[in-house]
Amino acid sequence: MFFHTELIFDETPPVIDAILKRPDALLVINLSGGKDSYAMLRYMVRLHAQRGYQAQIVAVHANLGLAEWEGTEAIIHAQCSDVGVPLTVVRRSRGGLVKRFWQRWQTLRAEGRDVPPFSDSKNRFCTSDTKVQPIDKFIRSLPCRLVVNCMGLRAEESPKRAKKGRCAVRSSITTKALKKLLPEEAWEQWEGGRLAIDWLPIHHFPLERVWQEAGSSKKDLERRQRLFHKGKITEAFLGWRNHYAYVLGNKRLSCALCVFAGAKELARGASYHPLLYANYRKLEEISGYQFKQDLSLKSIPLFTPTISAQTLACLLLELRVG
Ligand code: SF4
Repeated sequence: MFFHTELIFDETPPVIDAILKRPDALLVINLSGGKDSYAMLRYMVRLHAQRGYQAQIVAVHANLGLAEWEGTEAIIHAQCSDVGVPLTVVRRSRGGLVKRFWQRWQTLRAEGRDVPPFSDSKNRFCTSDTKVQPIDKFIRSLPCRLVVNCMGLRAEESPKRAKKGRCAVRSSITTKALKKLLPEEAWEQWEGGRLAIDWLPIHHFPLERVWQEAGSSKKDLERRQRLFHKGKITEAFLGWRNHYAYVLGNKRLSCALCVFAGAKELARGASYHPLLYANYRKLEEISGYQFKQDLSLKSIPLFTPTISAQTLACLLLELRVG
């Protein structure tokens, strides 16, 4: 069965529950194409039906352009279509992430500043400029005044994420009087201006529960990875509704080359996305800065994939409903 139908225990904060019961509210589901956001999408659709929520559901994907794994947007479209949730794709108006890094380098050089063009943990402008801001703009463009904005971050992913509260007022798009309040206070004082609350509905999910919500399991994934590495590509992807990068061996789906990825995932991302790799290598050479503070892309061992990322994306879309 595609959806498991077991009842969801009460895991929803009362403030979110109260807002989602209203027909004038909007539930925004942020999708990256990764397992966490896909699990969240399916979980939220089930929760919405079981609780009889009246809020309208929409999904949003911030497309980062060349930096993304090939075919990610099409995969997300298929995932949303499975569950009948409309998807809006947003983009940074001045170009994707690769362009953002190059623009930053040009600006820094013009100002005579000697700092890296790439993001790092202290300066994570890649996410704020190419995801947060376009999604804020999208939410602002909608007529709804009450918004629950769901993201698939999980505590297990990192100590920093573990410390994150599950709910917070999204101050960038909330009316001034409510910006600095706790969600419960903001909801109590809400009088009709925009109130947007960020919610992490799967923050407490362990990995196995994520795979279960995403229609799979660790065992199923490992079986598919073995099939792929034996060259049994069709068998590996038959009925697989998640992103193909997991079957290749990725633990996370991020940009094809992410400033936080480990060496193995960088090697895979670079080998499947030679144009992206060439772009970042050029920027490393010109700027004199490495892609990661402790690692240059030059040191990544590239390989020649037996099948292109584009073909993998097409195959996945053909075989996902097995
Ligand atoms: S996936 Fe990595 S490089 Fe891409 S926007 Fe997120 S943090 Fe930045």
